[in-house]
Amino acid sequence: MNPSSASVPKQVKLDKESELRIEAANDSPLRLRLVTGSAEIFGTELPPEIWLSFPPRLKFAVFTWYGATIEMDGSTETDYIADETPMVSYVNVHAVLEGRRNRAKASSSTDSDASQGPRVIVVGPTDSGKSTLSRMLLSWAAKQGWKPTFVDLDIGQGSITIPGCIAATPIEMPIDPVEGIPLEMPLVYFYGHTTPSNNIDLYKVLVKELAQILERQFAGNIEARAAGMVINTMGWIEGVGYELLLHAIETFKANVVLVLGQEKLYSMLREVHRSNPNVDVVKLQKSGGVVSRNAKFRQRARSYRMREYFYGITNDLSPHANIANFSDLFIYRVGGGPQAPRSALPIGADPVASPVRITPVNIDKDLLHVVLAVSYAKTSEEIISSNVAGFIHVTDVDIQRRKITYLAPSAGNLPSKFLIMGTLAWQET
Ligand code: ADP
Repeated sequence: MNPSSASVPKQVKLDKESELRIEAANDSPLRLRLVTGSAEIFGTELPPEIWLSFPPRLKFAVFTWYGATIEMDGSTETDYIADETPMVSYVNVHAVLEGRRNRAKASSSTDSDASQGPRVIVVGPTDSGKSTLSRMLLSWAAKQGWKPTFVDLDIGQGSITIPGCIAATPIEMPIDPVEGIPLEMPLVYFYGHTTPSNNIDLYKVLVKELAQILERQFAGNIEARAAGMVINTMGWIEGVGYELLLHAIETFKANVVLVLGQEKLYSMLREVHRSNPNVDVVKLQKSGGVVSRNAKFRQRARSYRMREYFYGITNDLSPHANIANFSDLFIYRVGGGPQAPRSALPIGADPVASPVRITPVNIDKDLLHVVLAVSYAKTSEEIISSNVAGFIHVTDVDIQRRKITYLAPSAGNLPSKFLIMGTLAWQET
């Protein structure tokens, strides 16, 4: 586990079914290439001979089924070889899913149940390797020509877009080990917070909205339907977190539940689904390579994710600073405030806070550094049920001139004037 800071490329020989686990250095990128044999990073094969550049802090493993030689250039926090991995059990799951996809494809398209491929949901505590397993299953499926749908319900550390969102996107190619999930046309719903306890009802409503849209898309797309979905979830598995998992399993009609690294969760979920022959609950071992991340690291990772949204993972995007008048923007917050003033309620009734009520936000200095979602809603009533086009970041609020300066991925008008505010903020450092 020695940190290395080699200036000459270092060669590493990997025996079959072993992996090189790497944490790139905090301040410099790492270059790596496959010299001989074959190897993959989380399900995506490495091209032979080509140097790949990994950004600082990335934690990953280069796994080989049959043996490989890897060359590394640059410093790492750690790098070591592990010959004990759960990869065989993971690829066995993939083989079973593949069988189901083939059966779904072969069935007559008029029978909606038979033509439905696997709907896999990956559950487990934080840092059990859920996102990594989801990614492998998707990349292996894509390699075989399927276009499975990736659904990410993890609002804390999602891999499709910025934190605070739930999202879905078809995976058409094995996922790029450096660039991650392509951001072309994801279907994104903005929750606005990084923990579901801020507004549990809103989280559930958005999960339902997303599931309904996907259901509609699947109804008209046999190919997507047969490929099925892989759903990644949050690491919150106790109490309400557990209820939310059950809610997600039910809402997305998941038929394969993969439980990573927790016996108790596995037995609870198996018990709940004992009488339901349509749901298979499978226990899988957590990889020893999964890196634990503390709260501070997670916070920093969220901040990097927001930076990546605007600037790109490899700094290849150039966002625009735009200026808008206060009067051009309609900013709303979801939840909070009382449903109706006391005067409007029957005598004796108490006003209750409605979790999905929207309230207009006054533009003031509090908006500084806030990240807002740009809704596709055409009216304010549609805000909850609409997905979002993207995000802007408020960099200045000029109260006197009544103008807001914000960073957006591109120049020009926003696709809509309806913006949603949560508790997400970000500051460029
Ligand atoms: P979870 O989704 O359960 O929170 P992740 O899949 O995100 O966990 O894994 C946590 C971290 O560990 C990630 O940075 C991931 O890249 C890293 N990781 C996972 N598996 C391995 C492995 N076999 N070797 C090295 N790093 C790994």
